Amino acid sequence: MQTVTHFLLTAFVSQQARQRGWLPRRVHLPALLIGSVLPDLPFTLLTLGFGLYYWWIGTTPIGESPMIYMHFALFFEDPLWIISHNILHSLVITTLLLGLGWWGIRRNRRWGLSVCWLAVGTQLHTIIDIGTHHSDGPLLFFPINWSYRFPAPISYWETAYYGAVVIVIEHVVNVLIMSYFLTRWWQRRRTSRSKHSSNVN
Ligand SMILES: [Zn+2]
Repeated sequence: MQTVTHFLLTAFVSQQARQRGWLPRRVHLPALLIGSVLPDLPFTLLTLGFGLYYWWIGTTPIGESPMIYMHFALFFEDPLWIISHNILHSLVITTLLLGLGWWGIRRNRRWGLSVCWLAVGTQLHTIIDIGTHHSDGPLLFFPINWSYRFPAPISYWETAYYGAVVIVIEHVVNVLIMSYFLTRWWQRRRTSRSKHSSNVN
């Protein structure tokens, strides 16, 4: 899914879970939210860096568009792209990260809680990606295996796998979540204003 969707879904689910008391008392929300977008950061930076190079300086090896070359050749074949993109999209690595965070918490290390919730954020991101990519999902067992991707029956962009429908649903969900947070913010603002004015009176 798109990076912004990961952020909004994680923000919404964590807010709902906290409201219902389903989360432990000590939640590191910033780390969780950073973890929800961090797996896509290397791909974005590589696309920007390589894209600028191919658009302004060099040409792709057989003259295809930079986007096609980057996302359909380099993404699947180039070790730099494979490692960068899958390092935090790997359930193997993020489970180890979760274990490290848990170990840190048990040992009363200050970084333990943030590492733990960062790992939870990356795992939620990866689970959503596994379910919404057909041909280009995360390498499930990276770095042990460098080729196996789960072919989900739907994709958020491939038209052969309901991409046209899924992208609409994704956008609707994003608009609903943003409307929900905006409404909450507006209600809180009104409440605090009316409290303030009754205190002044
Ligand atoms: Zn992703």
